[in-house]
Amino acid sequence: MAKRKKKNPERVEMEKGILSPEEAEKVKINQKLYFNHVNREGVFLHSFICNNCGLHFNLYSWQENRHRVDNTTCPECKTMGRLRHWRLVLSDNPEMQINSGREIFNYCPAENAQFMSDSRED
Ligand SMILES: [Zn+2]
Repeated sequence: MAKRKKKNPERVEMEKGILSPEEAEKVKINQKLYFNHVNREGVFLHSFICNNCGLHFNLYSWQENRHRVDNTTCPECKTMGRLRHWRLVLSDNPEMQINSGREIFNYCPAENAQFMSDSRED
């Protein structure tokens, strides 16, 4: 019978589909892209449903109360203030945790999403 090898905790995280060491290194190198003059309180997922057109959309934020119904616009019909709102606290840690599955970079861009030609780097 083959001897079972104890799994490395980092490897377990990789198997959950989080980050490979190479991907984690890229994020470390580009951290300025993830912390751009914002006071991070944690990681928050705001979910909205537009009462006008019915669009469901999610918005990720580092601030717990930055995105509210009265300052969020439906990206489809541009209606403001007529939304249903839910919030999920993914992390209440003000420090980014590179190996956590609850950081925004694990969700955005979405898996297999195509980089679009209208993107800008400035
Ligand atoms: Zn709408």
